[in-house]
Amino acid sequence: MKIHGIETGRVKVTERWREGEGKGIKRLLNAVFDKNMTGWLPIHVWIIEHPEGLIVIDTGVPSDANKPRYFPPYMPLLQRAAIFDVSPEDEIGPQIQRLGLNPDDVRWVVMTHLHQDHDGGLHHFPNAEFVVSRDEWNFASGFKGRMNGYLNQRWPRSFSPTLVDFQKTPFGPFASHAKLTHAGDVTLVPTPGHSPGHLSVLLNEGDTTIMFAGDTSYTERHLVQLMADGVGTDIAAEIETHRKILAYAAENPTVYLPSHDPDALQRLADRAIIKMQE
Ligand SMILES: [Zn+2]
Repeated sequence: MKIHGIETGRVKVTERWREGEGKGIKRLLNAVFDKNMTGWLPIHVWIIEHPEGLIVIDTGVPSDANKPRYFPPYMPLLQRAAIFDVSPEDEIGPQIQRLGLNPDDVRWVVMTHLHQDHDGGLHHFPNAEFVVSRDEWNFASGFKGRMNGYLNQRWPRSFSPTLVDFQKTPFGPFASHAKLTHAGDVTLVPTPGHSPGHLSVLLNEGDTTIMFAGDTSYTERHLVQLMADGVGTDIAAEIETHRKILAYAAENPTVYLPSHDPDALQRLADRAIIKMQE
């Protein structure tokens, strides 16, 4: 099955955003006011050419995010601690077309979560079925969602995703899961921590699992070293998610693809599985 990893622009965040320090509100303030920025990080979108139809995972950020007043004043984290570099040609719509694929042929768009650097290309898929976990939807929508840091006022009016309720039957170390495809080769698992309803997508390629991991961690190193980011909603849940992913990978060779890991595309090309720490 052909898988495309697409860089839909770049972002820099503070080091204490990518790798958290401190607890509670102090952890968030450390992320906001850290003077040190990361280098440019990719904003990945993934496309699986599945026999049941194209599957897109996340939608990137719009080129408007470069503009100074794109983020409202009540979002200091995004105003102060992140810099975006996205051109109109970087957006997922034009990029899909350059691959020779048609956005109208997309069967599912699975959202790992609804943060603004993942939900910024929803409008490129007017005919697709969007898939979001119910917990993420409940946390991200409405006025409360805006207070929780989501830009839901920018969602297309027609955005009405299918909400996933995970079946309470285990999938390896994950306590629950949901199947996306009829063939059963694409599985959604809850991976909370960075956001309460965060999910990851596992594609069974036979010998190898490809894990589209969203922001469960920013790099494979942060996963293996059990290091939570500085902006997640629940540090303990994020580290518990890391442990589950590592337990899964110990049983099933797994290629780990977070959204903002500069090495992810190379690992996908090489089918390089997670290296456990010595
Ligand atoms: Zn995120």
